[in-house]
Amino acid sequence: MGVHSGARERRATYLVSAVVIGLTVALLPFAGHRFGASASFIPAVLAIVVCFDLMSVWLLAGDYIDTGDRRILAMAVAYLWSLILMAGYALAFPGVFGTSPPLAVAPSVAPYLYIGWHFGFPALLGVAWSPFARLDILDIERQARPRTLARVLAFSGALSLLVVAAVVAWVDHLPVLIVGLDTSRTVAVTAPFGIPLIVVALLVTVRGSRSRRGPERWAFVAILVCVCDLILTYSVRYRFTLGWYAGRTLTAAAAAVVLVAMLSSFRRLKSTAEFNAAYDYLTGLPNRRSAYDFLTSVVARASRTQSSLAVVIFDIDRFKRVNDDFGHAGGDAVLRGVGSALRASVRQSDFAARIGGEEFVVVLPDADAEGAGVVAGRVRLALSLVVLPDGRPLTASFGIAVVAPSDAGADSLMHRADEAMYLAKQAGRDRVMVAEPPTIAIPLGGQEPSHP
Ligand code: GH3
Ligand code: MG
Ligand code: MG
Repeated sequence: MGVHSGARERRATYLVSAVVIGLTVALLPFAGHRFGASASFIPAVLAIVVCFDLMSVWLLAGDYIDTGDRRILAMAVAYLWSLILMAGYALAFPGVFGTSPPLAVAPSVAPYLYIGWHFGFPALLGVAWSPFARLDILDIERQARPRTLARVLAFSGALSLLVVAAVVAWVDHLPVLIVGLDTSRTVAVTAPFGIPLIVVALLVTVRGSRSRRGPERWAFVAILVCVCDLILTYSVRYRFTLGWYAGRTLTAAAAAVVLVAMLSSFRRLKSTAEFNAAYDYLTGLPNRRSAYDFLTSVVARASRTQSSLAVVIFDIDRFKRVNDDFGHAGGDAVLRGVGSALRASVRQSDFAARIGGEEFVVVLPDADAEGAGVVAGRVRLALSLVVLPDGRPLTASFGIAVVAPSDAGADSLMHRADEAMYLAKQAGRDRVMVAEPPTIAIPLGGQEPSHP
């Protein structure tokens, strides 16, 4: 299953990459088309990116605490950089939080912060996956991780803040990159170093994260989205063109890629955890806990409605020998066979579960001792068809209990069924005993009725 889901995840990354590339190529011929200038578009994109980055940093940090994986910590640094630059950009954006400095600084600061994001974010992701970064060592000591995390994030956060502050402080001494709506200077200044940098980051990340199975595998898709964003942005001379709008939309998408991958992996984990909490891994039957939950509710219902309820418990006879003769794996295979046989011999409305190593239960709402005896007979027959590798048939000892007014809950009913099963073992195994005051035996398969 693991390998299969890994292959599916890989295919998903390729599919999303293909869609993003396809969209970019399709939009390119129309990239220069001009639209109305929407002043609120950039702050909206910034708000989205800041939210996505905040969640990504949070989740990646948690992932680092859980795994001690330093590459994940380095990815958190990349998202923190993105978060601080974009938050700084939003604060500096005229009209968002203020109309005059220090909050609203000259529009010329925008291209610098945007470039800082555009190249810094993929470059840092590239560093996270770079073979030279020597981040492959896991932090073994769990207790030390929160401190390491706090130090790394504080240091890189402070550095990012310093960059934003420096750009804001010195923007008047930096070359002006945007003249009116014309962005061609930005392209001329950044393309020569930016494009090689981002391509190297992409290649390094593809190579580094290739063997990964977790959401971090999507890091290269995030960079690819940045590349497509750049292609669209570089293909136009002016802001508020189709290419410009599409580029900024991809900026938001790039911030979301790893986040969405992490959230969907949590969803998968959640459903796996829920399955494991309620079902038995080996046979796929409900487990002991589910059996008790179910039994508690039907015992309560039976006492409320004065209806009948029976449980059939059985334990495989001499199972230790099966393990001894055929090994533990052989024993497991036999148990899987028992699970299938059991499933096939009970009705949909009846509840079958594995409650112990080689101990099973069938809960039969509305059934009496006779009905339970019929079910036990069916299960016995099905078990006899599970033949061991040496040709011996499999047998089990059964205990039946029917709910009585004195049964306060699931425990006492199960206890009486258990006792009856124990009596069946004592009486020579391979038989069914009914716990009913007094406990009597149902003769089956031509055996003498047993009286405890
Ligand atoms: P009895 O007839 O008295 O029930 O004899 P038994 O050998 O079956 O004894 P018991 O029920 O006490 O022992 C159950 C054995 O089942 C012990 C354990 O090694 C084995 N077992 C429990 N769970 C598993 C499992 O998941 N896989 C395998 N292969 N063996 C298991
Ligand atoms: Mg046994
Ligand atoms: Mg047992």
